[in-house]
Amino acid sequence: MGATVTTANNEEKTWGGGNEPLAASYGKLMMWFFIVSDALTFSGFLAAYGFSRFKFIDTWPLADEVFTHFPFMHGVSAPMYYVALMTFILIFSSVTMVLAVDAGHHLNKAKVAFYMFLTIIGGLIFVGSQAWEWKNFIHGEYGAIETKGGSVIQFVDKDEKVKNPFQTSWGVSTRLIGGLIMMHSDDKGLVLPPKIAPIQIVIVPIANTKDDKAFIEAIKIKDILSQNFSVKLDDRVDLRPGEKYYEWEKKGVPIRIDIGPKDIEKKQCILTRRDTGEKEICELDNIEEYTKKLLDKIQYNLYNLALERREKTNTKADNWEEFKTKIQNGGYVFAHFCGDKECEKKMKDEIKVVSRCLPFETEAEDGEHYCIHCGKKSPTNKRWVFAKSY
Ligand SMILES: [Zn+2]
Repeated sequence: MGATVTTANNEEKTWGGGNEPLAASYGKLMMWFFIVSDALTFSGFLAAYGFSRFKFIDTWPLADEVFTHFPFMHGVSAPMYYVALMTFILIFSSVTMVLAVDAGHHLNKAKVAFYMFLTIIGGLIFVGSQAWEWKNFIHGEYGAIETKGGSVIQFVDKDEKVKNPFQTSWGVSTRLIGGLIMMHSDDKGLVLPPKIAPIQIVIVPIANTKDDKAFIEAIKIKDILSQNFSVKLDDRVDLRPGEKYYEWEKKGVPIRIDIGPKDIEKKQCILTRRDTGEKEICELDNIEEYTKKLLDKIQYNLYNLALERREKTNTKADNWEEFKTKIQNGGYVFAHFCGDKECEKKMKDEIKVVSRCLPFETEAEDGEHYCIHCGKKSPTNKRWVFAKSY
């Protein structure tokens, strides 16, 4: 590079030390000035970083998410590659800066301008990249969720790693629980599908004390089944079995296993399905395999029942009279609609019906179709979903 070192060769007195104030040359002094000021500046930055990290611990960018992607390429995991690129750009602009200074020593104006220009471009890219990362990850736009209060939501998963929650516009609320109860229940209480049941199997030993054979056998069954399922052993000996049955039925546990002294003699137990109430005899040796299959059966049965019920209550209407009758009968009615707010308002005033949605998977129907209420031509030829509002 051939950088030159400037020496101050004048005879003026600097702090009374002449050309060598503090007994050091101008170049050496400048070097120390540079090192000390750098050290002070960066200590300041580090201290500020440390304090703000503690102050804003909840809203701080998530370490796991920062610099794991290239800008505008989210979803493509490229950990640290972007940092490597930024580092390269930083080193590159340091070099162009040195070259600009060197060109200045040679009084080459054009070269100074050129290298300064490159330095500025490199600097802008570097600082811009930092700003981009900070902006996006502070707000958790990609991955983390920032709450209204400014906290960032994360959770520790089964594998003990910190993860971001899945995001959806559908909140799990009492309404969803209500829907579950309405869809999956009978006169005895809840009928929970195995896949969402907090307790999948309950074991009720027919025993008077905790030393009874049946009780000990029940513990064995629990140990076997707990490896794959969520199992509860009803170990209360002060309640009669009938009272326990009633309680677990009400709570909707998919399978109840009863085991008494006679069953032990036969090396079997009795399984009762919550969905159908049917009792099945199972050999103790085969309990694991048997319950797995039975849980699958119950899940499948409940799903089909729910689907059937939904299909039964989803109806189509092609004229206003039919529409009105079907809406009064309850359920969802699929009909063509102009999409007009005013038209919908009139429908609401007349029979309290509102449009619920235009399902994504709906296919446009052949031919021309007209609004069920005002008779205007449908812009999409797709059926909207309507239901009474309560
Ligand atoms: Zn209309």
